[in-house]
Formats: sequence, C-alpha cells, structure tokens
Amino acid sequence: MAVIDIKSKIKNINIVIGCTNRCPYCYARCTAKRFHITDNFSVPQFYESKLRLLENPKPLAYLLTGMSDFADWTDEWKMKIFERIARNPQNQFLFLTKSPERISFDCDLDNVWIGVTVTRAAELKRIRLLKENVKCKHYHVTFEPLHEDVGEVNFDGIDWTVIGTETGKRKGKISAKPEWVENIVRQAQTKGVPVFMKEELAPIMGDKMIQQYAPNLICEVK
Ligand code: SF4
Repeated sequence: MAVIDIKSKIKNINIVIGCTNRCPYCYARCTAKRFHITDNFSVPQFYESKLRLLENPKPLAYLLTGMSDFADWTDEWKMKIFERIARNPQNQFLFLTKSPERISFDCDLDNVWIGVTVTRAAELKRIRLLKENVKCKHYHVTFEPLHEDVGEVNFDGIDWTVIGTETGKRKGKISAKPEWVENIVRQAQTKGVPVFMKEELAPIMGDKMIQQYAPNLICEVK
C-alpha cells in the first residue's frame, strides 16, 4: 500500500501562532524561532490578514492549530474565524487542544472537527473533558507523539483518530512501539472509529499500516 502523507490531504493555516504549552517535543516553537515568525512563541498572536485563506472555493480540509492550541484562542479570534468557517461549508476545519479544561465552546457547524492530543495514559482524561466542555458535531483524538501504551481508551462519540510517532532529533526522543499502536487500533476498530497512522509510522508498523479517513472529512486536493 502506498503510504499517504497527511499533509497532502489536510493543509495547515496558522491564523494563530504561539502557544502557552511547553511541550518538549514542539516543532512549531523551533520553526517559529528559526524563521523569526514571532518574537515570543509563548504569547499567541492573531494574524487577521490570513482570514482570507479560509475562503477557498475548492473543497479542502484544514488544520487551524498547527502552531497553536485552541485553548489559547481568545473569544474575539474565535468569533472572527468561525464566522468565516460558517461561510465556507465546502471546507472542513480541524482544531486540536491539550487543555480542554480551559475551553468552554459550542459549535453546531457540520464542517468543524475539534479534538484533543494524547501522548500518555495520564492524558486520556482530555477526551472526557473535551466532550464535557466543547459541544460540536465531530470529535477526534490524535495520539501523537505516542510516548507509551495508553491502556484503555474511551472512543465513545469519537469520529476519527490519528496516531503518530515522535520525529526529529530531540535528546530523549521516544519512538512508538508497534504494540502501543496496535492497542489503540484494536479499541478504535471495536467502536468503528476510522484510524489514520501518520506516514512516520510506516517503518514501525510495516504491512500493518492503516490510513482511514472519517466519512465527510477528507476532501480531494486538486
Ligand atoms: S501544544 Fe503544540 S504548539 Fe503548543 S507547545 Fe505543544 S506541540 Fe507546541
């Protein structure tokens, strides 16, 4: 099977850049520093001129939190961004957070997918907190970078899950083990949740690679 690079299907638009989390494996912080994108990555900034990028008439899927955490977004930023999202139902918009306990948000748009990132078992509570604090049509969970066997996962109400391993050359980098990935896959499949393994898992998972999309999520990239 040809391995698909998820970036060819889900494009990043970084209208907010910066994050108050301090994940030791953060590539966005390094990128922002390397290209002098912001003065201080720990202070999220809103780039209003990029709102026009949400107006693409071609059907595409976008991740809007590639360099931020949805929990850091102010109400004003959300209002301006979701107003554009509502006007562009041909596109799908994904968001991720590691701090659902800091969010209170309701959205009834069909093209909005809000999810949490989980890297360890202790972070599984984020899935419950997401569903308690955020009301939306589509929930997703990203296990990336997977740093241990997360054990039992509650996939109730989850529409899609992504699994990835840490990349780069960080000292102390943790590579996912096949059995950690298989544990998540087994439970997701039991609940009928589509699983997408990111391309970096190909050398680890071999012919057990799975790359499934949630119905209605992926639009063809023209
Ligand atoms: S949540 Fe994402 S953007 Fe924020 S520090 Fe962690 S990896 Fe970086």
